Amino acid sequence: MQIDSKQMLNIVLFGPPGAGKGTQSEKLIKTLGLVHLSTGDILRAEKEAGTPLGLKAKSLMDQGLLVPDEVVIGMIESRIAANLGAKGFIFDGFPRTVAQALALDQMLATHQLSISCMISLEVAFDELKTRLIKRAQEQNRPDDTPEVIEKRIQVYLDNTLPVAKHYENQGKLRAVNGIGEIDEIYNRIQTALN
Ligand code: AMP
Repeated sequence: MQIDSKQMLNIVLFGPPGAGKGTQSEKLIKTLGLVHLSTGDILRAEKEAGTPLGLKAKSLMDQGLLVPDEVVIGMIESRIAANLGAKGFIFDGFPRTVAQALALDQMLATHQLSISCMISLEVAFDELKTRLIKRAQEQNRPDDTPEVIEKRIQVYLDNTLPVAKHYENQGKLRAVNGIGEIDEIYNRIQTALN
């Protein structure tokens, strides 16, 4: 695995909606002490606080559409700059387009940093839909209705899947089976990181 000159471990946790990125991020943060950067969490917080950015993002998020690249790139840029002393970052739900991946590589490079690896959680689409419908009941997320779930999966296939190719071309892609118990999946991630 590639560690940059500042010895930071920068992981992109990748996968379709419902793959378990949030759950596995929490475990990685605890064990590795990395800074968690989830664009979905940041946008939801903005939405709940009713900020201008949150209000702008709300209707796109509720429809399962992507928020414009420049908005999420700006959010990540300021947080990287504010955490340069960290052991590393976990990027969760970002980058979601190739333009975001290019911007991320570039902003890290300006700090002599780079992505160490991309962990891609692989889960079959039928399983994803079941998980997302369950999550809708548990967490009351307005973007987990059956229609919006279909849309989010389509957006993933059209816009986000090419990001895996981007990091595969850099030799950084590690595919991990995302089906099973939480700890079992976490062990697979650790093996992929080692
Ligand atoms: P998530 O919790 O990661 O599934 O994100 C929830 C929603 O926030 C997505 O469906 C998008 O509307 C928006 N969002 C989160 N991350 C991004 C991103 N990197 N680019 C564009 N939109 C995003």
